[in-house]
Amino acid sequence: MKTIVALPGEGIGIEVVDAACELMTAAGMPVKILTPPQHETGAPTGGGALPESTRRAAREADAVLFGAAGPSTSDVVAWLRWEMEAWGGVRPSKFYRGMRSPLADADGIDLVVIRENSEGIYPGREGDLAELKRALPGSRDRLGRGLDGYGEGRYAVKVVTCRGAERIARFACDVARKRKARGHPGIVACATKSNVLRQSDALFHHTVEEVVGGCPDLTFEHFHVDDAARRLIRFPRSFDVLVCMNQYGDILSDVAAEVAGGLGVAPSANHGDGGWAYFESVHGSAPDIAGRGIANPTATLLSCVLLLDHLGLAAEAERLDAAVARVYGDGKALTPDQGGTATTKTMTAAVLGAYRNQ
Ligand code: NAD
Repeated sequence: MKTIVALPGEGIGIEVVDAACELMTAAGMPVKILTPPQHETGAPTGGGALPESTRRAAREADAVLFGAAGPSTSDVVAWLRWEMEAWGGVRPSKFYRGMRSPLADADGIDLVVIRENSEGIYPGREGDLAELKRALPGSRDRLGRGLDGYGEGRYAVKVVTCRGAERIARFACDVARKRKARGHPGIVACATKSNVLRQSDALFHHTVEEVVGGCPDLTFEHFHVDDAARRLIRFPRSFDVLVCMNQYGDILSDVAAEVAGGLGVAPSANHGDGGWAYFESVHGSAPDIAGRGIANPTATLLSCVLLLDHLGLAAEAERLDAAVARVYGDGKALTPDQGGTATTKTMTAAVLGAYRNQ
């Protein structure tokens, strides 16, 4: 029996995590699901720190299933991603027949965006430009201009380390190799702006190139990030594994999600060191539809597929994936974002039915 800690976050996170946990339980999967509190008892409305007992449970669990963060649960995702150092983001984008893709022909889209989760610009080292001018009086841009030419403003620091770039490159190669064993072409593409950011992005680009170059079974490709965005829409089938720094991965994985069927269908896994990982949909708390019972549970159910696979429950993972595919193929129990009229609960019930009938 494996232990999963479920942290729903807020908004539709609660609805889709409840649905996914009910399905795993009703399907008789060998998992024990714990739901510890996300806030200290008596915490003011609007959040508060994740209780220490919950952190301990999440650290000790075999995996964590997270819903979606919003303003009152940003601490939860911050802890999962930053403090637990879940540096390796895996964001598959796969079209299942019956999904509502904006592309006329989406058949065969099956790629994975690997997002470096811990570095880049998102840790949020920002400040007043005046501080930067004082700290880096000799700083020059590519045209030799100093910081004094700027008036008042703010700055943000983007960090790329050799260790971080190499670690995510090796991780992307492992993902590409596992996919190659299942018939994918074994291509690791990397998207940067190394033509403009010749130190930071170039370090990432060349590190990935070197690591993939050392793997004779894999092919390396590089695209400038703007070109990669365009290609994901125009030639999505040409991608296998696409590895990116934090912010580019955030943006390109949303583009990749949309070409397959939208945010409602995009799952993710986030891996840290020592086998610890948490799983979450790519979407947020969706305040525009929260509480209406119409959120698409697919992103969370497909996150459970990744989670079950991680737990070594490959048969359950494959069966759940096939059940989701069946429900899309039937087209009778889809939520409004996919053109149907089903609720979160009725769509999840249809997936459970398809799971049981295999
Ligand atoms: P969002 O992902 O919550 O919603 C974007 C759009 O997609 C909305 O129109 C929403 O209705 C739709 N959508 C998303 N998931 C859906 C689903 N399962 N079924 C049907 N439709 C779905 O992004 P947002 O509106 O920009 O952000 C809302 C909040 O979520 C913000 O507080 C933001 O910070 C947070 N957020 C959290 C995460 C996370 O937890 N990883 C990711 C993105 C945004």
